[in-house]
Amino acid sequence: MIRVGINGYGTIGKRVADAVRDQPDMEVVGVAKTRPNFEAERAVARGYDLYAAIEDRASRFADAGIETAGLVDELVAASDVMVDATPSGIGAENRELYEEYDTPALYQGGEDADVADVSFNARGNFDDATGADHVRVVSCNTTGLSRLLAPLREEYGVEKARVTLVRRGGDPGQTSRGPIDDILPNPITLPSHHGPDVQTIFSDLDIDTLGLKVPATLMHMHSVNVTLDAEPSADEVRDLLEGESRIFCIPPEFGIDGTGKLKEYAKDLGRPRGDVWENGLWSESITMEGDDLYLFQAIHQESDVVPENVDAIRAVTESADAAESIETTNDALGI
Ligand code: NAD
Repeated sequence: MIRVGINGYGTIGKRVADAVRDQPDMEVVGVAKTRPNFEAERAVARGYDLYAAIEDRASRFADAGIETAGLVDELVAASDVMVDATPSGIGAENRELYEEYDTPALYQGGEDADVADVSFNARGNFDDATGADHVRVVSCNTTGLSRLLAPLREEYGVEKARVTLVRRGGDPGQTSRGPIDDILPNPITLPSHHGPDVQTIFSDLDIDTLGLKVPATLMHMHSVNVTLDAEPSADEVRDLLEGESRIFCIPPEFGIDGTGKLKEYAKDLGRPRGDVWENGLWSESITMEGDDLYLFQAIHQESDVVPENVDAIRAVTESADAAESIETTNDALGI
């Protein structure tokens, strides 16, 4: 069993912990948190050993009646791999801690690419992370774009991708985020950081991205145009994308007209926290105009990187190849 520690038990960390626990070849050593909030209370209730991430604040857990198993250093020492799911920028500060104990670590997409030796997407570049000590699992949007572009590159070749990302203002729990009544070009200048981030997975890809922020919390939406090196029919592209395990091609007859119903469908499926681990791609939107492909896809920012973290654990421990790992992860989660 691969022993996994999780540092930062928020939106991403708690989902990764549950996904790791569901794997046949992994166990959760424990999770580390800074404060005794509701997520700390739930972590203990779910049976995770809870470690204090900051020594000076460790007594707050006891004051709140929450038992801890020790300090984060002990978690790092006891783990084969650490998943750092702390807020952007903190992961880079934590790298020294992981190095001190010689524990390989995964970082999240909020970190700069240079936090790690390699950026990772299971479908895009699994092999690049094999045996690496420090790996960054790319952000939710970059994950969604990499999953889409990988099969298009392999099957047809991509001359250029142009993507407009309509981004949720904040996650449902991020009460301080916005806008609450506006549409923001964000960033106003081009390109947004997403294009260069996708190039950390496909270094030779020609891609331009534009970003907006809107008053929504459920998901992001991508309006995609990819100029291919071939002229397949829309049906051929649809068949190709339907063969991708982490792309859910939404059938027209489902009547899913937006992110609200897509999330509702995930809840009806009994998905934990209503998570949509796959890209939600509207089958009907797939259109070819000559060599130009157009489509819409929705990305569940809180969960699409979760199976990717699981696969990255297998990559750094060299315990499976890409196909084996993706299949094991998918089977365990129910993707
Ligand atoms: P979050 O704020 O929900 O969770 C972060 C957790 O880390 C919180 O529980 C916080 O208390 C804790 N924390 C803060 N400082 C810490 C420290 N020094 N040591 C240990 N724990 C600490 O954040 P999140 O949304 O889960 O984001 C985590 C990372 O994942 C970021 O890099 C983010 O960019 C990335 N990410 C987020 C999303 C998303 O939409 N939420 C999607 C993909 C990637």
